[in-house]
Amino acid sequence: MFSYPQKEAQMIEPLPCPECGEVRMIRMVETFRLEDGFTVNKLCHYKCQTCGSRFFDDDAMHRIQTERAALGHRAAIASR
Ligand SMILES: [Zn+2]
Repeated sequence: MFSYPQKEAQMIEPLPCPECGEVRMIRMVETFRLEDGFTVNKLCHYKCQTCGSRFFDDDAMHRIQTERAALGHRAAIASR
């Protein structure tokens, strides 16, 4: 008659970091700035608590591409 609500309690489990190997990558929402200066507001992504490396899942990658494409049109026209 025991029940273990482990699934509910462990909704957020850290992932192993490909950079440093520590299992301390957690999901977080943060404004992220790309190398070329393009920023994505409140982007959901993974960040390693040990080395600070960030990684994007499919949803995050899709959002970056969508927002960049929307802005890229204006930038391409303006640079001519
Ligand atoms: Zn790491």
